[in-house]
Amino acid sequence: MNKSLRHAVIAGNWKMNKTPDEAKSLVEQIKPYADKADCTVVACVPYVDLAVALEAAKGSKLSIGAQNCHFEAKGAFTGEISAPMLKEMGVEYVIIGHSERRTYFGETDVTVNKRTLAALENGLKVILCVGEYLEQREQGITSELVAMQTKIALLNVTKAQLENVIIAYEPVWAIGTGKTATADQAEEVCKIIRDTIEKLYDKAAADSITIQYGGSMNAKNADELLGKENVDGGLIGGASLIADDFATIINAASK
Ligand code: PEP
Repeated sequence: MNKSLRHAVIAGNWKMNKTPDEAKSLVEQIKPYADKADCTVVACVPYVDLAVALEAAKGSKLSIGAQNCHFEAKGAFTGEISAPMLKEMGVEYVIIGHSERRTYFGETDVTVNKRTLAALENGLKVILCVGEYLEQREQGITSELVAMQTKIALLNVTKAQLENVIIAYEPVWAIGTGKTATADQAEEVCKIIRDTIEKLYDKAAADSITIQYGGSMNAKNADELLGKENVDGGLIGGASLIADDFATIINAASK
């Protein structure tokens, strides 16, 4: 296993933050850091900010992502947005299966799989989120749970399609709580995910897939987390809204 063979990806998940005007301003601030970075930098913005973010990011290395997409291409699904709609706009990435979608909007492993397939079939790159609740960690079922989430989410995803998948390990108890997993805890579960990919596909696929850690990653702890062998990047919520903090994390991933 050689971490230097893999591509580091730092993605911001803005969640339900920033109006279009505010989004334009934050993209302008982040762009120079993305251009200097030795890693891929993505901003996953609210749907209504996509057009302005894509325009503001034009000509830079900053990629723009959405935070979800529906599994059908079109139809009677009020309030939803489809993968072809995102693709036609020029969106490159989409987060699928974020724990906030699973917890508050009834997302299941099965719908996460359907959304993942729809995104990949439409040429989007997927940031696929998995992770355990605190009670599940305390029960000692983190490894089985995360392996199962990974397996179900990737059902019928081909090895070629897997090249467009990033997996984000996000312990739910660490998201937006200020409680970060220790670097060793992050490393342990990211390795379990990599081993699961090897069982599902092969060693080459496992060695090359980018696995991120997410959960209160910030300017202070990024260095240690990103220094771990199996942590190839980060999915960052709160700290991605503060350009200076996000820049520090980008720099930590660029080393
Ligand atoms: C997230 O939204 O995926 C996340 C990790 O949030 P935070 O960094 O705020 O914990």
